[in-house]
Amino acid sequence: MRIFLSFLAVRSAGLVKLTVPFRISEEIRRNTQKHPINTQKHPKQKHPKQKHPKQYAEIPYQKHPFHFVSSCASFNLPFSSAALFLLIIILQASCYTLPPETSNKYPLLRLQEKYSIYLDATWTTKDAAALLKVFEAVSPELLNPQFSSWNISDDALKNGIKIEFKDKSKHVTISRDALPTEESQEIPSPEKRLFHAVVQFITENGTNRSAIKLIMQKRYGIDVPSHAALPPRTKNNTAKGYSDFSNEDLMLIMSVLEEFPQALHKTPQLKYIVRRIDRIDDEDRGISSAMISRGYITFAESIFLRDHYHRHDTRKIIAHEKAHFLWWHVFDHQLKKDWAKLGGWQQDLTSESGWSTTQERSAFVTEYAYTENPDEDMAESIGFYFVYPDRLRSCCPEKYEFIHNRIMLIYGKRWSPSNPM
Ligand SMILES: [Zn+2]
Repeated sequence: MRIFLSFLAVRSAGLVKLTVPFRISEEIRRNTQKHPINTQKHPKQKHPKQKHPKQYAEIPYQKHPFHFVSSCASFNLPFSSAALFLLIIILQASCYTLPPETSNKYPLLRLQEKYSIYLDATWTTKDAAALLKVFEAVSPELLNPQFSSWNISDDALKNGIKIEFKDKSKHVTISRDALPTEESQEIPSPEKRLFHAVVQFITENGTNRSAIKLIMQKRYGIDVPSHAALPPRTKNNTAKGYSDFSNEDLMLIMSVLEEFPQALHKTPQLKYIVRRIDRIDDEDRGISSAMISRGYITFAESIFLRDHYHRHDTRKIIAHEKAHFLWWHVFDHQLKKDWAKLGGWQQDLTSESGWSTTQERSAFVTEYAYTENPDEDMAESIGFYFVYPDRLRSCCPEKYEFIHNRIMLIYGKRWSPSNPM
């Protein structure tokens, strides 16, 4: 291709030669002659205004092209200059069409144009591409036109990000360990930590409620209605029995939902979540539950009021309830059948849950998983897989492998064109 373009350049230069040879040769001649004169007399200091017009006027106008003679060859100078000039333009133009250079610049330009994000020299092209991927995945509607400059630091930062305001502009520092690495490619979501950092940025450290609710809706398909707008569920269970999630609650829920592979983020049957106030006379006090047929999850208010140590348990409960929707609406018959076999489950009409197991309690991660059914066993095991993986691995290594290989890796490889992360 380039050879062909070079040939074109040479042919084009031939045409140039016919039309503009004299102007080029004249200019070259002037440039060649004026330097010796200037250096001899330092004319700029003595006659700065008169010198150049006089000199040019004294040079006779030559209509013969100037020839440059080297020790190797003799060229027609205007011809070769024009050819060289065109050759450079054509070769440069052809270079700009090469995919590697275009892809190198694309993340930087896209971040600047769409998100007003400017990266400093600490960012590699690969890092920039990862950042762009996360921004594009969160939601196209979440534009942040305010200028911000971003750098990478080796320091460990809370949530992988630090947002500062200096000189009336926003400065963002990303912790290097929040960026995906080569080793993390096998994990279903290698950009997970970077995702959390970007969500902190977009939601202004978890304070912008409309941004939080938009991410909940766009990424996980879950609405967060105001408790006052909730329809009564039972005669005694009116809107008074519910409260609104705090922003912190929603940030926690999002971080757990993000743990699931991208292909499992949205479950169409899970439409919204509610937060129920625990009452002393409430027989369901402190209990969260997935309302599978009605399309929502009820979270007990008390699970969000625990201290930091017990936040792990809260995370486990959130993952558990989400897993019920997967069991009933996503996992296929074979997967559920294999899971039941792994747990020694068999249907038992004499049992309160309708199921019993042939295995010992030690083969289950909790008492609840042991006494209920394959569905609860799966929900408990998935909750532990995310929050206490070592405990699941030690009690039930085959179940850990089952969840890892049959669910997380399989769904982690499924690509969704609407949400490529
Ligand atoms: Zn359950």
